[in-house]
Amino acid sequence: MQKELKIYNTLSGQKEVFVPIHADKVGMYVCGPTVYSDVHLGNCRTFISFDMIYRYLLYLGYKVRYVRNITDAGHLENDADEGEDKISKKARLEELEPMEIVQKYTVGFHAILKQFNTLPPSIEPTATGHIIEQIEIVKDIIAKGLAYESNGSIYFDVEKHNQKHDYGVLSKRKIEDLISGTRDLDGQDEKRSPLDFALWKKASPFHIMRWPSPWSQGFPGWHLECTAMSQKYLGSRFDIHGGGMDLKFPHHECEIAQGEAVNGHSPVNYWMHANMLTLNGKKMSKSTGNNLLPEELFTGNTDLLDQGFHPTVARFFMMQAHYRSELDFSSEALKASEKGFHKLMNGIKALDKLPTANTSSENVELLLIRLHDAMNDDFNTPILIANLFEIISFTNKVNDGNASVTEKDLNDLKTVIHSMVFDVLGLTFLEEVGNDKLAGTMEVILTLRKNARDQKDWGTSDLIRDKLSEVGIQIKDGKEGTSWTIS
Ligand code: AMP
Ligand code: ZN
Repeated sequence: MQKELKIYNTLSGQKEVFVPIHADKVGMYVCGPTVYSDVHLGNCRTFISFDMIYRYLLYLGYKVRYVRNITDAGHLENDADEGEDKISKKARLEELEPMEIVQKYTVGFHAILKQFNTLPPSIEPTATGHIIEQIEIVKDIIAKGLAYESNGSIYFDVEKHNQKHDYGVLSKRKIEDLISGTRDLDGQDEKRSPLDFALWKKASPFHIMRWPSPWSQGFPGWHLECTAMSQKYLGSRFDIHGGGMDLKFPHHECEIAQGEAVNGHSPVNYWMHANMLTLNGKKMSKSTGNNLLPEELFTGNTDLLDQGFHPTVARFFMMQAHYRSELDFSSEALKASEKGFHKLMNGIKALDKLPTANTSSENVELLLIRLHDAMNDDFNTPILIANLFEIISFTNKVNDGNASVTEKDLNDLKTVIHSMVFDVLGLTFLEEVGNDKLAGTMEVILTLRKNARDQKDWGTSDLIRDKLSEVGIQIKDGKEGTSWTIS
């Protein structure tokens, strides 16, 4: 049933048929968070997008090694290798050990991603755990004549590298334009050219995070960690590298240059970039404060919202946009998603009680092919969801007696819909997500109500139903017993 998967490759600017290097195994690296503050919803969108991509690759039967790093050193405030290390600065301001900052926000990051039902990566390496590997790469690049030392720091020589390779190939920038677009060096600068980037930085006296190296007590450049860790766990050439759109330049461009310098070839076959979540039309960002925290979304505790939203509803909202499209966050859009989410989930629940017939009034195989076609077309989740709604409107008709489905077709529908909704989109019934206590409580309440009904105590039975409805829980009595949904 599954046709070939096509992936939009930022490098070629086209959708390409996905051919992994090792037949059924896929190596995927995604740039993780810099753990110096809470992740905002924008960060979450990128990680949820790649979680969906990871899940679909698993669904297709690939054995995926999914590496997502934690940046716990080396990410400076400014992309031009200036300013303080973000973690070091936070530690200094809060008078904490940098690793206390790292621990706090790594734990927080995991807790948030768990609420969004993302799968953990296969390996989650840290920059500080790979200082030795990074120093080895720096030595190698120096030995190849593509990096130079300046006052204890080491810089990558972009123009020299560009004589044999194409710096700018990913972000479609020309080196001449890049040169003319940068400020002139003022003579005080350590770099030979403003395009050069740091592989190793000598630590200034107040910089708390530092390691010994052949050149100075210092710390690795931000771009280097991803080269070191991806190469260590996935090899010098691997299948997929992902991250948010804003990492294309300079971060990923520099990763390509480093990989080429060390191995003589480009490190990645398919570069994938997830688009931004915006708020008021502007990118959500830690530094500008134009962002929303997941906790604010879940509780509704913000001026931007008049109610809270469940993480799985927020995930559904994100899945309704293609991962390469910008998505603007608003209360209205989330409310619309919430409605759609309930429609889909109630439709799925109803599948269990659908009557079957000798013939199907729809070509079910075709309906299912369309689901796969959507995902095979560069993970097109909005089309997938639109097709799921079409199926639900067909099964609703079956429920109303206006259409028919055979038992075999119904079983096929159930299997594929369950896989797509729960395994691939990563959605969950509201009552399931981190809500075991609610499910347990509901079981108790419904047992008490059943006892009341058995004793023909309709007053108590109706009171329970009405009180539940007031708090947004709808119950429905059917032949198989009583079911409940959160509205
Ligand atoms: P950071 O911790 O800032 O390095 O970001 C972690 C990830 O979140 C990176 O892949 C960024 O590209 C991504 N990211 C940052 N802001 C947004 C946003 N507004 N929407 C989507 N992804 C974002
Ligand atoms: Zn990275």
